[in-house]
Amino acid sequence: MLLYNTLTHKKEPFVTAEPGKVKMYTCGPTVYHYAHIGNLRSYIMEDVLEKYLSASGNKVLRIMNITDVGHLTSDGDTGEDKMQKAVKREHKSVMSIAQFYTEAFFADCVKLNIKKPEIVQPATGCIPEFIATIEKLIEKGYAYLAGGNVYFDTSKLEQYYVFHDFKEEDLDVGVREGVEADENKRNKADFVLWFTKSKFDDQELKWESPWGLGYPGWHIECSCIGMKYGGETLDLHCGGIDNAFPHHTNEIAQSEAFLGHSWCKHWFHVLHLNTNDGKMSKSKGEFLTVSLLEQKGYSPLAYRFFCLQSHYRKSLVFSWENLDNAAGAYNKLVAKIGTLLNNTDTVDEAKKAELLKPFTEAMDNDLNTALAITAVYDALKSDANAATKLSAVEAMDQVLSLGLIDAAKASADKAENTEIPAEVLALVEARKEARKAKDFAKADELRDQITALGWQIRETRQGTEITPIQ
Ligand code: AMP
Ligand code: ZN
Repeated sequence: MLLYNTLTHKKEPFVTAEPGKVKMYTCGPTVYHYAHIGNLRSYIMEDVLEKYLSASGNKVLRIMNITDVGHLTSDGDTGEDKMQKAVKREHKSVMSIAQFYTEAFFADCVKLNIKKPEIVQPATGCIPEFIATIEKLIEKGYAYLAGGNVYFDTSKLEQYYVFHDFKEEDLDVGVREGVEADENKRNKADFVLWFTKSKFDDQELKWESPWGLGYPGWHIECSCIGMKYGGETLDLHCGGIDNAFPHHTNEIAQSEAFLGHSWCKHWFHVLHLNTNDGKMSKSKGEFLTVSLLEQKGYSPLAYRFFCLQSHYRKSLVFSWENLDNAAGAYNKLVAKIGTLLNNTDTVDEAKKAELLKPFTEAMDNDLNTALAITAVYDALKSDANAATKLSAVEAMDQVLSLGLIDAAKASADKAENTEIPAEVLALVEARKEARKAKDFAKADELRDQITALGWQIRETRQGTEITPIQ
């Protein structure tokens, strides 16, 4: 499989250290609020990647952290701790907030058919590991104590800016929020590994450490959790594109300084989902969550379909109109699959393999889910028999996880189990009479009345079909 690698800036074969085994690390959510659908775009694309790697015969070990301490609003060392912000907002303890939003995150994942990683590790559960790693970094001369905090010394590295040629201004994250620059840093790019003295006197969670009572910086958690479960190397590291800098840059700096060798060869980043007026936000404008989509009548899987229609390396604009179009297309696709369900054909394996080929080619070419969906449509349009089409679609959907066959079955069951009201039947009869009398204006009018009652009517060769509108 060819997969773009942010580290080398090109599409390259994805190769693992041990053939057939993938150690995949995903930066998990900061559990201070519900995930917005932008966050979930990243997790949907990572889920498809994991499932495709598994479907291609790999055993995937997926590791995810849960950030419940240390992530500041700036992503750097300035701003307010996001968890502490939630404490002020909700007047609850950090741990109860973390638990609530961790559960909410995984509930959203279930609705979006995102598989829970094999390993899920909250940061607060690994404090001794963080401390041990920081001690070793100090010992090796990569970290220093200043003003009570422990900092990583980026000047000790041969190369710090591994992903891009970042500009100095990029380091001013947070300064916009009116927070002063940290005078303790020897170099502007240095970052905090452990806080003891800071502006957050109200920080609720603190631990004893060799440097005093304090708490970890954000970046150290992913290095330590990655190494705890993945050992000295990882095959694949994922996140949204905003994670590339400073978070992943700092993860690489501290992990490789600690290990003395390269850590993870392949870095996968998902571009952002934005709104028409810019960045997606949890505090300003409409807070777009899975629950909001549901309240507005959209199936979460229609949102997954919307995401998969675009390539992960292009930013995507969300609007209700765009989601409407995706939901319409998703429902049509499900309806089409529904017509194949009751067949007595047998699967033609050779034909099925032929239908799957373009799907595999699309996915092998940098996870092109948009083309993979085209392969689903092409399979349905092909001259294969119903059982073969259905079996091919089922195989593709094991990776895409759009719940296509289940949704088709559910809507068929619904149609079967729904009794048609007498009022609708009377209108259908009246419409038949009108058509017989060639009064088409009247027939149309009666059709509108039937539609208004939530029913769809279709004249087929077998007779009149009446189905509920989905
Ligand atoms: P956070 O909960 O802020 O730690 O972010 C969780 C994940 O969502 C990270 O992988 C981020 O890179 C990613 N992310 C944040 N904003 C967006 C967005 N608008 N679109 C896609 N992914 C995002
Ligand atoms: Zn991370």
